[in-house]
Amino acid sequence: MDFVDSHCHLDDRKFDGDRDATIARARAVGVKYMLSIGTGDGPPGLEAAVRMADRFPFVYATVGVHPNDVSKIAENTFENLAELLRHPKVKAVGEIGLDYHWDTPKEIQTPAFIKQMQIAAEAKMPIVIHTRDAWRDTLDLLREHWAPTGLGCLMHCFSGDAEQARECLDLGFHLAFGGVTTYPKAAEVREAARMAPSDRIMLETDSPYLTPVPHRGQRNEPAYVVHTAKAVAEIRGVPLEQLARETTANFERFFGFPVQESQPPGVTH
Ligand SMILES: [Zn+2]
Repeated sequence: MDFVDSHCHLDDRKFDGDRDATIARARAVGVKYMLSIGTGDGPPGLEAAVRMADRFPFVYATVGVHPNDVSKIAENTFENLAELLRHPKVKAVGEIGLDYHWDTPKEIQTPAFIKQMQIAAEAKMPIVIHTRDAWRDTLDLLREHWAPTGLGCLMHCFSGDAEQARECLDLGFHLAFGGVTTYPKAAEVREAARMAPSDRIMLETDSPYLTPVPHRGQRNEPAYVVHTAKAVAEIRGVPLEQLARETTANFERFFGFPVQESQPPGVTH
């Protein structure tokens, strides 16, 4: 059974002591690909994830300026970003978006978000979205600046309700479900995970953060994507094998990998 972790921070310092062992554990439980998110500590270190992708054949990367790092943007930041997108293992721009939870002013987040959508559109690449306490503004900007491109948009760590999921799905976006899906209080997220079409969902860890049950409270790692997969399969009432197959195929299709969608004989859905 193959799984994909569509969002992890393999460059994070929390993995410094055992990064290779962590990656090996993920491979051992069937994680076929890991998408390492390339926001690092913000500019100028945007190649953080590319370095991970260069080391492991099954690790791919994104590049982007996280909304909480936009104050570090310098004159050459966007030029560097566009340049890094030419690396053969860079699959998306992200995570980008809006985050009103912390102190970064809206006035600098908004233009940085729009600019990165433009860079992604020029490169014909999908985007990975981070949105926190900023739902309305994020969706308004995506509707205006991204939806018309017809390119892919993945809502990372989808934590909204069914109505918000519907809004994203209607715009043609994909939803990535992570550890939050396993949290007792996240009934609304589970409802979203139940109603989303099988060709629009992906799995992620956001490791080392947002650890799924039963490891909640510990450091998260890509191998734990299996726990979220089990939770989402149960919520949707499908066998784990099916959920794994669907989410892996969705990842491959979305990010432009050769897709293996063949189904075992006798399985219909
Ligand atoms: Zn992240």
